[in-house]
Amino acid sequence: MKAEIVATGTELLLGQTLNTSAHYITGKLSSLGIEVDYHVTVGDNPERIEDALRTALQRSDLLVTTGGLGPTVDDLTKALVAKVFGLEMVLDQTSLEHIKAFFAKRRGPMPAGNEKQAYVPKRAAILPNPIGTAPGAIIEKDGKMAIILPGPPFEMQPMFENYVWPVLQEKVGSDAERMNVRVLKIFGMGESAIEEVLGDLMQKPNPSMALLAKRSEMHIRLVARSSAETQALKLLDKAEEDIRARLGHKVFGKDRETMVGIVGDALRQRDLTIATAESCTGGLLGGMLTQEPGSSAFYLGGVISYANSVKENLLGVEAKTLASLGAVSAEVAQAMAQGVQTRTGAKLALATTGIAGPDGGTQEKPVGLVYIGLATPEGVQTQKFQFYGERKSVRQLTVKAALDWVRRYLLKV
Ligand code: AMP
Ligand code: MG
Repeated sequence: MKAEIVATGTELLLGQTLNTSAHYITGKLSSLGIEVDYHVTVGDNPERIEDALRTALQRSDLLVTTGGLGPTVDDLTKALVAKVFGLEMVLDQTSLEHIKAFFAKRRGPMPAGNEKQAYVPKRAAILPNPIGTAPGAIIEKDGKMAIILPGPPFEMQPMFENYVWPVLQEKVGSDAERMNVRVLKIFGMGESAIEEVLGDLMQKPNPSMALLAKRSEMHIRLVARSSAETQALKLLDKAEEDIRARLGHKVFGKDRETMVGIVGDALRQRDLTIATAESCTGGLLGGMLTQEPGSSAFYLGGVISYANSVKENLLGVEAKTLASLGAVSAEVAQAMAQGVQTRTGAKLALATTGIAGPDGGTQEKPVGLVYIGLATPEGVQTQKFQFYGERKSVRQLTVKAALDWVRRYLLKV
């Protein structure tokens, strides 16, 4: 079944509202094995909406609309869907009662415009809206199906979950082709480097493979199609195994796993504690380490030592080291890591110092130059990185690189 989503609303074309509903509905349809071929967004203009609906019905089996079910004159979607299907609009008594009750509960009179919301295409199945006034509808005619949903995501999503999902699930049947998705996450390798290593695997159709560049990670998205879920999962397992065999520890996780989640779990399992001394990341690393509940089991705390005086006074970095080598140096990263390790008593300590930019770079120390220090019970080491990109990217890459180092240290790779 090929589907198309038509989102209506001028606000979506003005850049005021992000079309999150297309994203949400597509995710749901994909997981049912329904292929979404088109996303169309159209303003509140009757000619253009009608045109979009006619086009959608010509090329797609399933049309899902969102938006334009409100009480005002620019809310046109339902009537236009009825028009393109050649159906009359009729008053749905149950919806009218619901709308009247909605206003009665709020002790206000029902505005005249709201009665319009109780009109639905003839023969349509009505989708109740317990949160708002606008009912949704499902039309099936001449081998085509249209699902009409409200615009506000907090009304649309429960309607989809409760009333649309079961209808579609039944329609696609249990033996329809399933689409299963897996995402493998990689740190420390660029798009082209990954492509070089995985090129031949990326040509294969099932599972299909795509590279998605994130700010500080690369994701490999695998999509397997099969009539049986177990078969699709087998295809994904095999592809994952092949990718891991080639990329090794560069793959740090998959699906919902995050770098900090993996590091946190590894620290917890080994009963280890960690502390941070941050310069260029200004607390981002500590913030990241405390993102998940339960982080107090391994994170002791940290020092945001932005100024040299704080590096000296709170971390014991020597003034002469700062003066002779500068704050952005391997020696300072090392002293910061050791300083926070001894002062907190943590088993492990991370330090970051670098030039986040956009200013402050020199020939010798360009923007993006970062030193990371890692103190462990075995001693302290530093690594030099040259990151590229804007300030935000440099800071995020620094945090990710620091966490990745701890991950690799714990995994002994
Ligand atoms: P409507 O049903 O057209 O009256 O939409 C009401 C409100 O829902 C709009 O003002 C938006 O804030 C929101 N909305 C409508 N369509 C979308 C969409 N596709 N994605 C996210 N929000 C939307
Ligand atoms: Mg609208």
